[in-house]
Amino acid sequence: MLLLAPPGAGKGTQGERLAARYGVRHIAAGDLLRAEAKGGGPLGEEIAAYQSRGDLVPDQVVLDVLTPAVVDAAAHGGYILDGYPRNLSQAHAAAELAARLGVTLQAAVYLYAPDAVLTVRLLERASQGGRTDDTADVIRHRLELFAETTGPLVPYYTERGILVAVNADQSPDAVTADIEARLSKLSLPHT
Ligand code: ADP
Repeated sequence: MLLLAPPGAGKGTQGERLAARYGVRHIAAGDLLRAEAKGGGPLGEEIAAYQSRGDLVPDQVVLDVLTPAVVDAAAHGGYILDGYPRNLSQAHAAAELAARLGVTLQAAVYLYAPDAVLTVRLLERASQGGRTDDTADVIRHRLELFAETTGPLVPYYTERGILVAVNADQSPDAVTADIEARLSKLSLPHT
C-alpha cells in the first residue's frame, strides 16, 4: 500500500494504524531520511539540507535509503510506504521495486485536507517543539511542492484503479474508519 498525503494530513498516524491492522510494515520515507541525516557524514548532511528547506531529497538517494527496508518488509508480509512516491519518477521506481520483489501494489491511499487546515496543524506541532521544518515559510513551500509535484500522482493511481481518496479533515479515528471502509470494498487479499 502507498500513502500519499500533503504535510500535516496525518500520514504517520494513519500509516502506523494501517500497518498494525493489516500486519504489514510501516515504512516512512521522511523518518528514514531524518534518521540518515542524524547519522551525519556527507550523505546525512546533504539529506538534512534538503529536509530543512522542505525540498525533495534526490530520487536516487531516497531510493537507496528505502530499498533495504522495502526488501525486508516484502519478505515479511508486505508494507505501507508512507511519503513515497512523491513524484512520477519515484512512482515508476516504486512499481519497479514492487515488481522485482513480487509484490502487488494494492492501494494508494490519498489523504486530503484544505491547506489552511494543514498549516494550522503543522504550526501547532511546531509550537509543541516539533520538527525544524515546521516553520511558516518551509510549510508553505512543502505544501506548494506537494500540489505541484505529488498531486499528479492522484490521477496516475486513479487511472491504475487503486486510488482511495479520504477526507483527512476529520478526527484521526474517523479517518482510519473511512480508510478501512474504502479498503474493504477493494476486496483485497488478506483484508
Ligand atoms: P511531510 O509530509 O510533513 O513533509 P515527511 O516526514 O514525510 O513529512 O517528509 C519530510 C521531508 O523529508 C520532506 O520535506 C523531504 O525533504 C523529505 N522526503 C520525504 N519523503 C521524500 C521522498 N519520497 N522524496 C524526496 N524527499 C522526501
